[in-house]
Parts: sequence; C-alpha cells; structure tokens
Amino acid sequence: MIALDDLIAQIWPLAKPVDGTDTVAIAHAHGRVLCVDLVSALNVPQHDNSGMDGYAVRCSDLTDWPAGMPVSQRIPAGASPQALQPGTVARIFTGAPIPAGADAVVMQEDVRVSEDGQVAFGVEPQPGQFIRRAGEDIAQGQIVLRAGAIMDAVRVGLAASIGVAQVQVRRRLRVGVLVTGSELQNPGEPLGPGKIYNSNEFVWVGLLKSMGCEVESVGIVPDNLQATCDAFSALAHCDAVISSGGVSVGEEDHVKPAIERVGRLQSWKVAMKPGKPVAIGQIDAAVGHVCWFFGLPGNPVSSALAFQVLVKPFLAMLQGRTLAQVDWRQRIQRVRAQFEWSKPDTRREEFVRVTLCHGEGGSEAILFGNQSSGVLTSLDQSTGVVRLSAGQRVAPGDWVNYISYQDLMA
Ligand code: AMP
Ligand code: MG
Repeated sequence: MIALDDLIAQIWPLAKPVDGTDTVAIAHAHGRVLCVDLVSALNVPQHDNSGMDGYAVRCSDLTDWPAGMPVSQRIPAGASPQALQPGTVARIFTGAPIPAGADAVVMQEDVRVSEDGQVAFGVEPQPGQFIRRAGEDIAQGQIVLRAGAIMDAVRVGLAASIGVAQVQVRRRLRVGVLVTGSELQNPGEPLGPGKIYNSNEFVWVGLLKSMGCEVESVGIVPDNLQATCDAFSALAHCDAVISSGGVSVGEEDHVKPAIERVGRLQSWKVAMKPGKPVAIGQIDAAVGHVCWFFGLPGNPVSSALAFQVLVKPFLAMLQGRTLAQVDWRQRIQRVRAQFEWSKPDTRREEFVRVTLCHGEGGSEAILFGNQSSGVLTSLDQSTGVVRLSAGQRVAPGDWVNYISYQDLMA
C-alpha cells in the first residue's frame, strides 16, 4: 500500500499533454484547454472614453464654470470626435471617446442646461474624473490568458474583448469507461433480484464531460476475466480508460489479472479511505499511442473520490493543464472541526465528508452522519471533505484541512 502523496508524486509527472490541437471559434471554445498564450494586439479600451452620460470638459477652461459654457459637439458611443474647441464643452455619452483636449467628464446630474443651450456646472470637476483610460483593462502586448487555461465563460469573453475570433485548444481527450459487476443493471427497468442500479457510470460520464472529454462507455461488463480483458482492449484507442469495481482480490474481481494480461499494472492499492483499491497502469495500444488505465473501486463514494483526488488531475494534465493548476492540495483551507473523530484508521489517510458552515468562530466543518463508502447521498448532502492523516484524531474545535468538492474539481 502506497501513501496518496507518494503515489501522486510517482504518477502525476507521467501525464504529458496529448498531441494534437484544434482551432475553434470562440463560441465553441467553452470548456476547452488553451494551448498557446493569448496576447493582446490592442489596448482595451482602445480610446480614453466616458464612464458617464454628461459633458466632456477641459478643467482649466472652467474659470467661470457656474456662469455657463456653450456645447460645441455631441459625441454618442461609436462616434469619432473632433478636438474640443477651447472655451466649450462637449455633450458625451457612456463609452464614447473623449475628444482631444478634454480632461474630465461631468455627469449630467451635476449640470444645468439653460434655455439658450449654455451649460453650467454645480460641482467643480477634477481632472480625470469619469474617464476610463485606454488600456486600463488590457494593454497592447499583454498576455491575457496563459496556455493551460480552461476557456470558461469569462475567458471566452476576454478573447472576444481583444478581437480574437478563434483560439487554438488542445484536442479533446478520449476517455473510455466501463463498469464491472454482474449485479449491475441500468436504470429504466424494474430492479431484478440481487441487482443494484449502475450509478458510477453516470457520475463519471458527468465528471468527464464537465472536463470537456469525449467519453466512450462500453457500459456494464460482467465479472468475468475474458469479458474484462475484451472490454479493456476494445477501449485501447482511448487516451485513458477508467473502470469501476472488481479491483480487489476476491474471486469475482478480475480487473487486476485482466490489466496484467492486456497491459501492465504500475501501481495498486493506495493508503486512502474511502478508495483503497486503485489500479493504475496502461493498456497495450497501437505503436506510438499510450492508453492510461485507472481501475477504481465499485463503491460509489470511493470511486468518485478516487477519481477527483487522483485521476482527474492526471487527465487534466493530459489535456495540457499544468501541475500548479490541477493540484487540489494547494486549495486546502484550514477550518474548525465541529465533530469528534476518535477511531481513526491507523494505516490509511481518510477523507471525511462534511458540510462547511459559517459559525461564530469562522468556518466550521460538520460531519455527515453516514461515512459509508456506499452512500452516494453523502456526496450530494455535504460540501467537501476533511483530509485526515493516518491515525489523526479530531476533537471538536480542532483545526483541520478542508477542501470543497468544487475546489477538488476546479
Ligand atoms: P466492487 O468494487 O466490485 O467490489 O464493488 C463494491 C461495491 O460497489 C458493491 O456493493 C457494488 O455493488 C457497488 N458497485 C459496483 N459497481 C457499481 C456501479 N457501477 N454503480 C453503483 N454501485 C456499484
Ligand atoms: Mg464487483
């Protein structure tokens, strides 16, 4: 049995970005991983512009500002203004370019317009007020996004804001999925005797799709060595294959012998709870192609957690993300436990499901009642996990390491 941090140190550095990129329209880039730095060819905004509807003025002209000044031009958004004539002001609207010579905008609420069209000000303007400077958001030549960034909604918007219509992204990762277990049945039919519904496949497909992967699932595979070998080989063209269940050493567990037959096993059994039996290796594939293999336990919580702490960061690095971006250990928070943990596992570190609440003393972690690795509701009804080292006891009020499911998946 290997410690989780040791396994991470051994396995994650092996994850090299897959070859191949796609050039996609930004409207279709959502969720994809950028593979080059995005550099701005322009200033955003391009011109100094008005932050208000009002009047553009030259402050030094306003020696008799309460008396009134003529309006020499009108500048709506999108216009190209003339230079401001001395001794005049310009009517201007939000987002419109500041005319040369003007150095402040007075908002229309602070202005009186007389019947002859003269404009008088109720407040003395300060140079620079209500002017949004050229380049204050993004300067020409600036790196706006780095390679490895996931194109989320804001980043797609950033690309658009610098006029980029297409981005170069890493090709989608192809991930194969299978779930082993002769007791499994898919939802849609009444449950047969001795059967349980297959839920892991649906959890994984969701997690993988949210990462932007192409998922190829062969579904349920019975507990049978040949069927398991065949399913693995059928997915060997994928970049990675994830299997659920059958990874212990019972007579009905065929994942380990199967991977030893159609690939090779690199690591097995990690000292974490839930989620001990985890097989990591490769499936034999065509020359030049690598197909990673992750055999996760069947228990729904074990498999979801093992996926999040071990597999997801690995897949994310195959997608071109960097270690710093995917290492959830950097996102751990110190919070106070509102629970007692008096019988720790002495050989394995534990991930304890909790809900984070804001109490008087700051953030407090409240234990989810049922910590069984088979209880999928626990993942829905808690907000994250407290990571306890092997043998760590907890008394109420102790500081512990917490990470939310959201941060685990980030
Ligand atoms: P195993 O790792 O195959 O020994 O399975 C451990 C437990 O997880 C058993 O109770 C299985 O019935 C359950 N299980 C296995 N595969 C799935 C699945 N795809 N969906 C939900 N539960 C599963
Ligand atoms: Mg099984």
